Amino acid sequence: MAGKKILIVEDDNLQLTALARRLKTAGFEIAAARDGLTAISTARKEQPDLILLDLGLPAGDGFVVLQRLGMLINTGTIPVIVLSARTPIGNRDAALKAGAIAYIHKPVDIPVLLKAINEALGISSPEPPPEPPSQPPPQPPPAQS
Ligand code: CA
Repeated sequence: MAGKKILIVEDDNLQLTALARRLKTAGFEIAAARDGLTAISTARKEQPDLILLDLGLPAGDGFVVLQRLGMLINTGTIPVIVLSARTPIGNRDAALKAGAIAYIHKPVDIPVLLKAINEALGISSPEPPPEPPSQPPPQPPPAQS
């Protein structure tokens, strides 16, 4: 995952710092924006591989940001994961409809978030793959007499 850049859009400094630290530890490059307008301009400038988007933001809430990102040619294909303390009821569907690939309810469970990020980036999880089912060796056909 070296070299993958994640843009964190979060107006709460404590949450932003904590999240940035965890993701840096996991090996990601981090860009940050603290409001809706900056989120759009930073996404265009930094061309992140993934965006983590808070919904409650100054200067254009998360839904506005999602819409704007989706409309712009150079940001429309960047996967967006919404992180929000808002109830998932209704908001999850609305976020997915607006183009987000996942909705994660705050407080964020880091392993859950990392799994969603890795899936979004097409990075296989560090868990070992499941054992292939053991199959008996094919039997030769009975000899014709
Ligand atoms: Ca917020």
